[in-house]
Amino acid sequence: MRRLTGRTRVVALLGWPVEHSLSPLMQGAAFEAAGLDWVYVALGVRPGGVGDAVRGLRALGFAGANVTIPHKQAVIPYLDALDAGAQQIGAVNTIQIEGDGRLIGYNTDADGGYEALLQEIGFTPAGARVVVLGAGGAARALAFGAAMRQARSLSILNRAIEKDQAIALATDVGRSFPETETVGLAWEDEEARARVAAAELIVQATPLGMKPGDPLPIPIEWVPSGIAVFDAVYTPERTAFLEGCRLQRHCRAVGGVGMLLHQGAAAFRIWTGRDPDLAVMAGALRAALQPANA
Ligand code: NAP
Repeated sequence: MRRLTGRTRVVALLGWPVEHSLSPLMQGAAFEAAGLDWVYVALGVRPGGVGDAVRGLRALGFAGANVTIPHKQAVIPYLDALDAGAQQIGAVNTIQIEGDGRLIGYNTDADGGYEALLQEIGFTPAGARVVVLGAGGAARALAFGAAMRQARSLSILNRAIEKDQAIALATDVGRSFPETETVGLAWEDEEARARVAAAELIVQATPLGMKPGDPLPIPIEWVPSGIAVFDAVYTPERTAFLEGCRLQRHCRAVGGVGMLLHQGAAAFRIWTGRDPDLAVMAGALRAALQPANA
């Protein structure tokens, strides 16, 4: 049993709900492997409560925090500064609390996703035609991340009822990165199929595939053969969409666990200034995910 001391530093996850989070296990294992007297606790913060929570972190001398749904955008007004990536994306998933109490916001989600693609299949979006499915928080980070990495084009596809969200996200990315050709579409638009047919990377960033019986986000037949496909979902580790792309279209397929791992590793570096033991973090995730995949 881990003993806390008077010197134990505390890092928190702020979200609602947080019970499902794997970050306490992953970060706890990393702190222990690094010999750091640090703990990571998941704190449920109701919608509307993030300002009080952030003031509490500062007052209580926390070392840092992660931020998850529904607070990634709402937390921004309570921070003292944002790094350039978080500023562009307009969302924060990591907070560094400096010695003088200044709170700096970062977004490590995009770095996590693209580091997973690089490590697992050697893919980088530079010069590539990228299709993002979904226009929520993960899609936003991954769309900006693709443009930051000089993707040639970016097509953001969302279900029809929320087409405006895909257009709004495409407009935001296009404003910051005019050299990347961006478009927002509903996935039943005629042009959507052509965009998918020309893709070199498809990023699946909706929750589809988490529940048994979920429909596929797009038909597998639309997916070009042999391209890179990334699915942000990590429970299950490999969704039906990802497996369909891999088995029927011979795609190089990467699931969401690597993104979770690498966004966590990047956050660890921000808080501690040290490199975490990635194998230890991955082992903690794998052990926690095993029952979900059984
Ligand atoms: P979110 O902000 O709620 O956005 C979800 C997106 O998916 C929205 O564009 C939404 O469209 C769309 N969507 C939801 N239900 C749908 C359905 N039944 N059919 C079609 N589209 C649907 O969620 P998020 O934070 O982006 O998370 C999305 C997924 O990424 C989740 O599975 C999450 O676990 C995963 N994720 C993974 C990581 C990682 O580290 N691996 C990190 C973040 C998120 P509407 O706007 O029309 O609702």
